[in-house]
Amino acid sequence: MSTTIFAKIISGEIPAPKIYEDEHCIVINDIAPQAPVHVLVIPKQPITMLTETTASDEALLGHLMLVAAQQARELGIAEGCRFIVNNGAAGGQTVFHLHIHVLGGQTLSEQGL
Ligand code: C5P
Repeated sequence: MSTTIFAKIISGEIPAPKIYEDEHCIVINDIAPQAPVHVLVIPKQPITMLTETTASDEALLGHLMLVAAQQARELGIAEGCRFIVNNGAAGGQTVFHLHIHVLGGQTLSEQGL
């Protein structure tokens, strides 16, 4: 398995401020924000993409969604925001370590990230 930039951030090999961390995931600010608020919820487990998950990942996936929602509340965007998971190169994924984009802080267009 190749090591992604997110695995290096999780391990601390590459420094990136973690705005939240627990046993299962981290949250960082996106380095190239597409909205005033743009954070990434990243599982510590190096899952490549959502379509690679199985029933055994059910609890983790639920946890990631709850963390994403909590971050939206804490960042003040819960009334209007967007949660995105890009899947595969044709789906716009560039880092092949599962992550949820949380975007907000402005009126978002109908087009996604
Ligand atoms: O969904 P996708 O794989 O395209 O998203 C990857 C995201 O990771 C991008 O929004 C990119 O700006 C972000 N990124 C980052 N820090 C890095 C490398 C990528 O926040 N060092």
